[in-house]
Amino acid sequence: MKSLMRRCGACSRYSLVEKCPKCGAATVVPIPPRYSPEDRYSGYRKRMREIWEAEQHG
Ligand SMILES: [Zn+2]
Repeated sequence: MKSLMRRCGACSRYSLVEKCPKCGAATVVPIPPRYSPEDRYSGYRKRMREIWEAEQHG
């Protein structure tokens, strides 16, 4: 898939090409917010804790 939205680094205009059609500056692909490794890890720990508690109350 190559339909990534790009954004001009100079005027912040969104476009699909590597060069801003408005000012001619280079555009970049803004990195979308993702789940941080920390969040994944905390989810994993929560799960481990549930297992651990189940064992304690076994
Ligand atoms: Zn621009």
